Amino acid sequence: MLLPTIVHLDADAFFVSCELALKPELRGTKCAVGGRERGIISSASYEARACGVYTPMPTARALKVCPDLILLPHTSGLYGKVSRQMFDRCETLTPLVQRNSIDEGYLDLGPCGFHTPAEIEARIRALQQRLWDDLRIPVSFGIAANKLVAQIASKLRKPRGFVVVPPGTEAEFLAPLPVGKLPGVGAKTEAALGERHGIRLVRDLTAKNESELKAIFGPGWREMLAVARGQDDRAVETERDDAKSYSQQETFARDVAEFPEIERVAKGMVDELLPKIRADGKRVRTMTVKIRYPDFTQEAHGRSLESATDLEAPFYPLVAPLLQAAWKKRRPLRLVSVRFSGVEDGSAQLEMFAQTDEKRRRLAGVLDKLNDRGRSRVVRHGHQLGGKEGG
Ligand SMILES: [Mg+2]
Repeated sequence: MLLPTIVHLDADAFFVSCELALKPELRGTKCAVGGRERGIISSASYEARACGVYTPMPTARALKVCPDLILLPHTSGLYGKVSRQMFDRCETLTPLVQRNSIDEGYLDLGPCGFHTPAEIEARIRALQQRLWDDLRIPVSFGIAANKLVAQIASKLRKPRGFVVVPPGTEAEFLAPLPVGKLPGVGAKTEAALGERHGIRLVRDLTAKNESELKAIFGPGWREMLAVARGQDDRAVETERDDAKSYSQQETFARDVAEFPEIERVAKGMVDELLPKIRADGKRVRTMTVKIRYPDFTQEAHGRSLESATDLEAPFYPLVAPLLQAAWKKRRPLRLVSVRFSGVEDGSAQLEMFAQTDEKRRRLAGVLDKLNDRGRSRVVRHGHQLGGKEGG
């Protein structure tokens, strides 16, 4: 029997819930976490939301629409601590926990040996109750056969939602939902789909034929259709996997079509990431660049060095060829990202070029410190240290 083994959990009004756990007398009030002076609301209670407060909203406006709003300042360190306590409890259930953000993540119950959907439901209900009993944090859960559907399900009946989608019923489950519930369909896209193409519910989308979908979504139409049918085969990536890479991405304010601009941004990410890798005492071997078009189709290309390094120079010559390989369609881009993986401990490694590398590393370390002190980035490590490659 196919089991719904993928769980998405999403804490409800997380920052506010953390504050309410410490100040239970405020439960049931219109309250929000946010800065007062020129600040924005970063989390609002459901009572405040009913009054028209949402996130992110300028605090001044929130106080206008909801004059009796109780404004709570950010408590430094609190949310991260509660987040760790929340995910630690999840890890008592399964080792496969993906911490997506401070208050949101996935569990894969595959290795737990459950035999029936009822067993899974009971265990997740117990976890939901435990998070409330121990931490006073309300959390919504979506349980399904894949990440995409579990995530949509968890957001459907907040707060303290609990939605199970039996495997095989994904398309049926999504069909009656507004198309805006699908990831990647923002408010503007949702409005445009409704006005121009009569697509309001997910079922209106899946009812379109191939040529209609092509006309509406362009080359990304297959991905869009797969999403609307609830198809997804992404794996839950555990914390350990995450720790094994360093990445950075940039979403352009406008779509960019000039190669030098894209290359400059990608090289800037190399300059940002390697100092972090050095600071962690790590070395990396593989660089992957990813580009994304406005229709969410994306392409990635990577290459590995012969040995791991913590220097910029060996990666610089790879940036342009990898971008060229990924950017085949030559259409304007929305996003570019750089990721380093194949992480090794710096200390554990012996290499032939240890001496030259050591000099470069010392110099790079000095530059990192200079940059940390807030001086403008006068020197780009890679450009300065380039010359000969260290291996
Ligand atoms: Mg949340």
